Amino acid sequence: MQLYSTNNPATRVSFKEAVFNSMPQDKGLYMPAAIPRLDDKFLNNLDQYTLPEIAFHVAKNLLGDDIPDGDLQNIIHGAINFLAPVVKLEDNVFVLELWHGPSLAFKDFGARFMSRVMSYFLKEGEKQLDVLVATSGDTGGAVALGFLGVPNTRVTILFPKGKVSGIQELQLTTNGRNIRAIEVGGTFDDCQALVKQAFTDKDLNEKFRLTSANSINIARLIPQTFYYFNAYAQLLKQGISKVVFSVPSGNFGNLGAGLLAWKMGLPAEHFIAATNANDTVPEYLKSGIYHPKPSVATLSNAMDVGNPSNWVRIADLFKEDSDVLKNLVSGYRYNDEETLEAVKFINDNYNYVACPHTAIAWQALRDYQQDNFKADTAGVFLSTAHPCKFPDVFPGSIAAKIDVPEQVKGLHSKQKQVVSLGKDFDGFKEYLAENA
Ligand SMILES: *Cc1c(COP(=O)(O)O)cnc(C)c1O
Repeated sequence: MQLYSTNNPATRVSFKEAVFNSMPQDKGLYMPAAIPRLDDKFLNNLDQYTLPEIAFHVAKNLLGDDIPDGDLQNIIHGAINFLAPVVKLEDNVFVLELWHGPSLAFKDFGARFMSRVMSYFLKEGEKQLDVLVATSGDTGGAVALGFLGVPNTRVTILFPKGKVSGIQELQLTTNGRNIRAIEVGGTFDDCQALVKQAFTDKDLNEKFRLTSANSINIARLIPQTFYYFNAYAQLLKQGISKVVFSVPSGNFGNLGAGLLAWKMGLPAEHFIAATNANDTVPEYLKSGIYHPKPSVATLSNAMDVGNPSNWVRIADLFKEDSDVLKNLVSGYRYNDEETLEAVKFINDNYNYVACPHTAIAWQALRDYQQDNFKADTAGVFLSTAHPCKFPDVFPGSIAAKIDVPEQVKGLHSKQKQVVSLGKDFDGFKEYLAENA
């Protein structure tokens, strides 16, 4: 696979280079130079394949010969070792549960695949790989567990102090070994800005072999296409072939992966970009004006992104025809009050507990279906995290219904280790240099 930078479409780099650099020097994002359309035999018979089989077929078509078949199989079987079931709530309403992995969020797909790809490409005797990751809550946990104990790697997690849930904070700060956590006195955008600046800092790049684990890394995006195909496969088994996907969005990696899957032939009818008050994209889809804003804090904190870093990828996918994008994607935004009402409605009507991010995707699907009702078209909303990660959001009666998985219960007895820093780059740089 060859990749170019969205800021300079004439450039070409290898998959290995894109994975380790994460972001081109020109500050664009890497995109595959060729997006293959999958063969009809595969697309028409998706229901015959398992998730790992789908993952292999999709990855193989994208990556070509970059990773030999046997190694690619190993990477996929190691990374995608949990299910992504589609659960029916009522006629035409399904939830795609993406939180059956170890960190209980969909980010396990991207983080586990990426860590294994990096470890595959990392040759013995090479300089230690320093992974920098800014997180609004869920990325850090998934990346930490993806890299924990992987030889010759070290992960530095930056999260906004006081803006992640108690369980998320434990997932970030109790790993030890090759994982370290920094709480930044600022927002997620500040954390992301620190990481981005580190990648363009000459001194740091001379001293360290830096790479990013954020959703800008192409190796995180690719595995997220797998579950769209797999969800479609599960619906095909039930005789449903027309599907709308509603995606709770923050940095827009998840929706970007869905649209990449669509370009590869995923026969989805439509996509919904569902956001909280951080509505840069829904506003753009309405007005045609892309106006990034500072992020605001909400109950669905993993989507508190005012300047979504993956949007350039989506814009790039449709650069030849922005009307196609506007017809394919609808935007919806909800405030915290509406989010809580959605959580309650889902609980009361389906006896199902959805995390606040998931609830926003459900509400957007409901509103879309009310405006565009089609009896033969099923809606699937993506459930991006297990509700136990956000215990403070729920009214007591709903919170009491949430099963807390064993791996979460164990976190409370672990030792917490965290460094506090401000949001200025000099302080961060000094910390990195002094803790080499
Ligand atoms: C990261 C995250 C999102 C947003 O996903 P993007 O790919 O950044 O748009 C939504 N929900 C949860 C629970 C998340 O952790």
